[in-house]
Amino acid sequence: MKSPHLTILGGGVCGLYAAQQALALGARVTLLEKEKTFGGLAAGHQRDGNWFDLGVHMLHAFDQQIFATCKEAMGTERLEVPLKSHIKWGGKIYHYPLRGRDILAGIPPLTLIRCLTGLFLAELESRFPSRPPGEDAESALIELYGLPLYEFFFENFTHRYWGIHPRELSAEFVRRKMPRLSAVDVFKNFLEKFRLSKPRDMTEGALRFETLHYSRTGAEALPRCLAEDLVKRGAHLLTNSAIERVHHHKGRIISVESKQEHHQDPEANYLSTIPLPEFIQKLNPAPPGEVLSAARNLRFKPMTVYALLVKKEQCMEALYTYYRDRIFHRVGEPKNAGLLVKPAGHTTLIVETTCEKGDSKWSGNAFPQILSDLAAEGLCEPKDIVSHHLIHAEHAYPIFAKGFEQDLKTITDYLAQFSNLRTTGRQGAFSYPNMHSAMRMGSEAAAELLEQ
Ligand SMILES: Cc1cc2nc3c(=O)[nH]c(=O)nc-3n(C[C@H](O)[C@H](O)[C@H](O)COP(=O)(O)OP(=O)(O)OC[C@H]3O[C@@H](n4cnc5c(N)ncnc54)[C@H](O)[C@@H]3O)c2cc1C
Repeated sequence: MKSPHLTILGGGVCGLYAAQQALALGARVTLLEKEKTFGGLAAGHQRDGNWFDLGVHMLHAFDQQIFATCKEAMGTERLEVPLKSHIKWGGKIYHYPLRGRDILAGIPPLTLIRCLTGLFLAELESRFPSRPPGEDAESALIELYGLPLYEFFFENFTHRYWGIHPRELSAEFVRRKMPRLSAVDVFKNFLEKFRLSKPRDMTEGALRFETLHYSRTGAEALPRCLAEDLVKRGAHLLTNSAIERVHHHKGRIISVESKQEHHQDPEANYLSTIPLPEFIQKLNPAPPGEVLSAARNLRFKPMTVYALLVKKEQCMEALYTYYRDRIFHRVGEPKNAGLLVKPAGHTTLIVETTCEKGDSKWSGNAFPQILSDLAAEGLCEPKDIVSHHLIHAEHAYPIFAKGFEQDLKTITDYLAQFSNLRTTGRQGAFSYPNMHSAMRMGSEAAAELLEQ
């Protein structure tokens, strides 16, 4: 009997891991990637002999099975790196994720008492709810942290980051991504600060002591090693193969068309990891008007990375630092995680800015502001910058705008008719996974398709 065939659209880590799973289940695999290399958001970008990530990308080992596959594929290229990340707040540097004691140190005493009371009331409300949960991010943040802490810390930052006020964002993002802070923990830290209680050992919050996984060439090693392993095992991987049309007939996808080739296999299963709105627009025949309009409503926040080669041994202590009041929201220094930088005595900085396509951050016109903010933060002076270039990601973050759930449902209800199709991963499911979770999504979707 002929083995089943899985055609995968998109060669980010989700598509690559889905291919691993499909091979393990005995399927034939064809994978089509638009760019000239694999990796998607986690791909590396080489410039004058140095590697730059799109935002410092490191693998978490939370999913043991996925980690084991990646570890084997990367072999000796894998580096273990202790997590050290910071957030710059009110002129001081704190650990990220925020610790209770950082909140204590960073807030003036009166505001602190208000914030603690708000946090405590929010915690009480969550245990004994007196009203239904709010629908927008503002209500969700207030439910999580209380009004004073929301106004003091989250409102402005969230607005600047997304370019949308938290009132216009869905509560979903906050519920999925933001950790709950305990007022009791913060209060215990308060007592420790004034030596009214014994300091605890430093074991709260697994993330603080996490080991991350990286390489001397940055993020590019993981997708490259996964792809090499797939090719060795017989998968058919194609780059420069942007999908332009997806044909369907009687509730099945029957073929996909790229510029160069028409991949026709009505018996195949199809797994799409490309951005969901684009996938919808490529369907032929076209979906009904309400599905197309739901797809138009789903938007992504683009990102521009200013990738700098700097004539300095080191610019910061951490792997990356978050900033609240600068044109950039995060700066990474991958050399601190083991990246090789040439020539000696130099380092690279990955300066991340969320933006809109075509605005001054996207076009590079914001560079003077980037330079002055880097200098103001004491990271480097304009004279230290040897070269810079831009890396763009049009689909960096799905925007969970208020009401996006209904649009997503309209689309997924429509796609449910295609028995041989799954859309998954960060772009295909319009979701927020890390690399290992995107890989898990790919693996589950592939298994579901092949086992049905
Ligand atoms: C700035 C930033 C930093 C991050 N840092 C980390 C981190 O440190 N650790 C971590 O675990 N996660 C991190 N993430 C999350 C991680 O990048 C993603 O979750 C993961 O890479 C998603 O993989 P994916 O395959 O689902 O999507 P993608 O990587 O977006 O892959 C989709 C693929 O589809 C391709 N494609 C698109 N259109 C077409 C088409 N028409 N035809 C064919 N192919 C197409 C794209 O080129 C791409 O390769 C970060 C994300 C961002 C934005």
